[in-house]
Order: sequence, then structure tokens, then C-alpha cells
Amino acid sequence: MNTPRKIAAGNWKMNGLRADLQEARNLAAAFPAASVDILLCPPATLVGAMAAALVGSAVRVGGQDCHQNVNGAHTGDISAAMLADAGAYHVILGHSERRADHGETSTLVAAKASAAHAAGLTAIICVGETEAQRDAGQTLDVVLEQLKTSVPDGADKANTIVAYEPVWAIGTGRTPTLDQIAEVHDALRAHLPDAGISLLYGGSVKPANAAEIFAIANVDGALVGGASLKASDFGAIVAAL
Ligand code: PEP
Repeated sequence: MNTPRKIAAGNWKMNGLRADLQEARNLAAAFPAASVDILLCPPATLVGAMAAALVGSAVRVGGQDCHQNVNGAHTGDISAAMLADAGAYHVILGHSERRADHGETSTLVAAKASAAHAAGLTAIICVGETEAQRDAGQTLDVVLEQLKTSVPDGADKANTIVAYEPVWAIGTGRTPTLDQIAEVHDALRAHLPDAGISLLYGGSVKPANAAEIFAIANVDGALVGGASLKASDFGAIVAAL
């Protein structure tokens, strides 16, 4: 059976202090035995504390980035093994904010994903076009090239998730049409190294649009930013999956 797993993943980005762990506890309490995978990726400072707060629950914890090297002189960076040691099961890699803010290339993202795999983490690899690229008709070329160069050898459904996140839809309240999401997800599915890899949509997913997005073929869930910060909003998205 190669049916991709259904996944709702929350990306807290650079938001969250210890007091906000109550939102994670509330989410876990709302889904004591979830039939889908639920994941929260807080800032690195909260990974260990959130993992401890969620022990025994159905909600798993992930990081938002890791270094491509195992250890060494990389001040400020975090290795995949450190995330795993803190209780993480997943790590988001190649988010457009890291590609833009830190100049991360797809080649680097692939190296980071390999490091994540070696540490036993599932890599959530993000791809997505800018608005200018969409307007120029380059969307499929861009995301398929990113997929090809960001997903490393050895990626399979057990260690990799791919998230399609149009850059122009992240944090803007704008989303592609359902047909546009379907077109990209169909193309990504056809080019995955393992057809069982889960494909998430990300970009302004909220309770009001989650169900119609999840109804699209080849959408196996969502990577959610702003609407993952509150258990009530994220819980409504999880319930729609
Ligand atoms: C994201 O950060 O991955 C994201 C999709 O953000 P938002 O849901 O806020 O658009």
C-alpha cells in the first residue's frame, strides 16, 4: 500500500515563548487519538520543552532548520542530531523564508535533508514559485527543478515530506486557485522519487479554506504558519483533514 499519510504541520516561525506551550497542550488535548499526523515546529528554543510537554500525546514536534554538518565550528547553528536529541521527529528544510533570508540553495537544502535523514529525522522539504515566476508562466519549471535538486538520494515516504508553498501565498492571505494547486501537486506527485511521499500545500491555509484545499487530489495535508499558533485555529484545520 503506497497511500501517502495525511499530515497537518504547524510552523511557528520566530514566534513563541514558554507560555505559548499551553497552545500545544490544548491542541494535544483536542486530538487524543488522531487519525492523521499532527506536528508542531516551534522555534529551536522551544523544541525540547514542547517535546516534554507533549510526551504521550498524538502531536509530534519538529525543527525549522538544521545544519548540513554533523557538528563543528558553526556558531548559532543546530545539527539534526541535536534536534532529534531534543525530541524532534521532523525538520522543515528549504522554507522560502530561509531561501530568501539566508540564501539557501536547493543543493544546500538537499545536503541538510541528507543530514536530517542520517539523524533519523523526517525532512519536510519546501518548494514554491515567486509571484514573478508564476506571472511568467514558470511555476512548474521552478518547482520541479527545486524538487529535483532539493530532494536527496535515499528520500522515501518514511523519511521525507514535500511541501508546495507558493512564496506569494505565504502570510499574505492570498492562495492559488484550487485548479492551480491541483496542477502543481499533480506534477510534483509524478516526479517524486517515491509516490508514497506526502505532499502538503502551504500558504495562507486557515480554517475557512482548509476543507476545500484538502479535497484536492494529491494534497495530503498542509504546512501552516500563522494559523498554527492558536490551538483553536490549527485544531479546526486538523479536523478538516
Ligand atoms: C509557512 O510559513 O510555511 C506558511 C505557509 O505560512 P502561512 O500559513 O502563514 O501562510
